[in-house]
This record gives sequence, structure tokens and C-alpha cells, in this order.
Amino acid sequence: MRLDGVFLCACLPLAAQPPSRDLADLNWMEVRELVPAKIQTVLLPTGTLEAHGVINNGADATAPLALARAMAPKLNALVAPVVPYGVTGSLDAFAGGFTIGEAAYRAYLGDVLAGLARIGFRNLIVVNGHGGPQTAILNELAEKTGREHRVRTLVANWWAHCSDVTLKVFGEDGGHAGWNETAFIQAIDPKLVRRERLSAVTETPRQAEGAWSAYPFPSPIILYQPGQGHPRFDQAKADVYFKAVVEKMTALVADSIDKWDQAGIFK
Ligand SMILES: [Zn+2]
Repeated sequence: MRLDGVFLCACLPLAAQPPSRDLADLNWMEVRELVPAKIQTVLLPTGTLEAHGVINNGADATAPLALARAMAPKLNALVAPVVPYGVTGSLDAFAGGFTIGEAAYRAYLGDVLAGLARIGFRNLIVVNGHGGPQTAILNELAEKTGREHRVRTLVANWWAHCSDVTLKVFGEDGGHAGWNETAFIQAIDPKLVRRERLSAVTETPRQAEGAWSAYPFPSPIILYQPGQGHPRFDQAKADVYFKAVVEKMTALVADSIDKWDQAGIFK
């Protein structure tokens, strides 16, 4: 008995290790065995194509995908294929970016979320890389999917949820394509940061609500506070930041799942 107990304890975590944490890298037999019997959580990274100062136009997909892959083993989750196109908005005039119309985005993402629920995941976690109207649509769709499919959903905007981490690591607030987001990409792949081009890139502080509106927005770097968040390129700080964001985002998801479980919701 005692030996059996030890045997089981030692083997259960190993048995729970899937051949891959990327949903699209598993075959149908593996998914059938894993979901929902062994894995109930899926992380869906969502991004867009948008100018980002001196980092890649796909940064809003690069960031949540790397984040989700770092979070998945800690949460016993799978990572759904990233949705790289999104609702870019007023920076879509800069070269290489564009906007998916809201109706098309809503319809497509609604089907993606419903599809993940249909696979059998109980916890649908959107790891979102792009804000504004995209976040509003995702929030709405996630709630609708949760209600209709009786699944738990969470939409997390990493840069906003981790703004305290930004202040702690860099000693100042960040910005769109500011030091924080640039550092996050630098931690993932320093080759995506073209620091030598920074002098050619303008920055504009985010306007106060209702103060003004411009199309296109004049700069691809949008500072949350005037005079704060100018990109600098400190690899050590970037690595610390990435790790701290992974920890805080993982804690948010783990805590939410724990509370849903405790409340017996949609079990
Ligand atoms: Zn971004």
C-alpha cells in the first residue's frame, strides 16, 4: 500500500506531462486523452500588427505567445495558436500594420473561443497583447462564451495588470512601445530590438481623456506619462521584467482558477 502510494505520487506528475504544451502540435488522439481529463486550461495569445517604435510590428503577438508558453507548464495549461491579426486602430497608417474591422474580429474570435470550449477546456484564458477596442471586444466575447458554454473565462492585458511591476523594475511608468514593452521583447529575442534606429522614432505622451484625437496617431511610441517610459536597452532589467511579469500573470490565472474551483462553478 505504502509502496503503491509512493509509486502513484511519483508518477502522476510525469503522466500529466503532455508531448507538447502547444495545442496545434498535438494530434487528435493526444488531445482526446488530455482534455479535459488531465488538462482543463487553455491560454489563447492574441495580438495585432502595429508599429511599435524600434521593436517588431508583431510585438503584440510575440509578447503574449512567449508569455503564455512560459506560463503554461506552471498552470498545467496548453497554449492555443496565437491570433496575430487584430484591431490595430490609429497606428495602422504606419508601414506594415493594419486593422481588422470590428465585425470580422468579433465573429472570428467568437468562434475561436467557442471552439476552445467545444474541445473541452474548462478555463479559457486570453493572454492579450493589444489594448483599446480589441480588449473591449475580447471582454465581451469571453463573458458571452462563458455564459453560453458554461466555461470560466479570463481576459488579461499583461502590460496593464503588471503596471506595478513596470514601476518596480524600471522606476518609472511605461508606454506603448515604451521601455517596458521594448524590454519585454528584448527579453524574448534581443534581435527584434533595433536600438540603433531609436533616434529616428518620435514619442508622444498619451492624451488626457477627451483632450484631443488624431488619426494617424503622430508617434509609434505612446508614453503613459510625459517624460517616462523612453526606451532604454538594459538586458538585465529586461530579463528581470519578463520573469516578474510571468510570475504575476501566472498568479492571476492560478488564483482565479482556484477561486472558481472553490466556488464549484461550472465543474
Ligand atoms: Zn504593443
